[in-house]
Amino acid sequence: MIRVTVWNENKHEQEIEEVKKIYPEGIHGCMKEFLSKEPDLDVRTATFYDAEHGLTEEVLSSTDVLVYWSHALQDEFSGEVAERIQRHVLSGMGLVALHSSHYSKILRLLMGTTMTLKWKHDESERLWCTSPLHPIAKGIPEVIDIPMEEMYGEPFDIPRPDDVVFTGWFSNGYVFRSGCTFTRGMGKIFYFQPGHEMNPTYHIPEIQKIIVNAVRYCSPDCIQRTLPQNVRIED
Ligand code: ZN
Repeated sequence: MIRVTVWNENKHEQEIEEVKKIYPEGIHGCMKEFLSKEPDLDVRTATFYDAEHGLTEEVLSSTDVLVYWSHALQDEFSGEVAERIQRHVLSGMGLVALHSSHYSKILRLLMGTTMTLKWKHDESERLWCTSPLHPIAKGIPEVIDIPMEEMYGEPFDIPRPDDVVFTGWFSNGYVFRSGCTFTRGMGKIFYFQPGHEMNPTYHIPEIQKIIVNAVRYCSPDCIQRTLPQNVRIED
């Protein structure tokens, strides 16, 4: 079984009526529901408001893949917990980082760049699969039309990705590297742009399938999760 922890800020769902209607159980509840349909995934959730944001040493030690959505409370997120997540990713925990979490402490720590981009609300998006042989693209059509999304546009200040699995084209003409993979230490990372809280994007079956594929892709292959270390070779 792949042990998945879905982490969500869970602020907008409690404060904005439209978001509550789209995600009555929160974005984390929606994700738990569709991920739990997969027989190889064992899913639990945590939110910002839990003690230590629900991401204690114990939780992270028993997490194979962390799925992470954040937006409004990124400055308030504990630096200590962000560093704890970083350590777990470097030693093999997978990370699926969604939408506005590009600007979270954990993503900025792991990427080392500013993670800045252009943005605008309420455009439609054509999500093109630009790396069709990638495991995350398995069973995904060449193009997915998302009727309404927040536009994210280039330049997106990220380090060079391992693969750009999806590229978004928006109705105002902007393009974006919407689905990128990275490797840090022993850990695999997938950043995925769709998922603005005011739009029902995570109810779209193809988007759900991409997240399921990403969880499987990012799960650690290594039997023992361990930080890379300096090793002295004897003469
Ligand atoms: Zn957004």
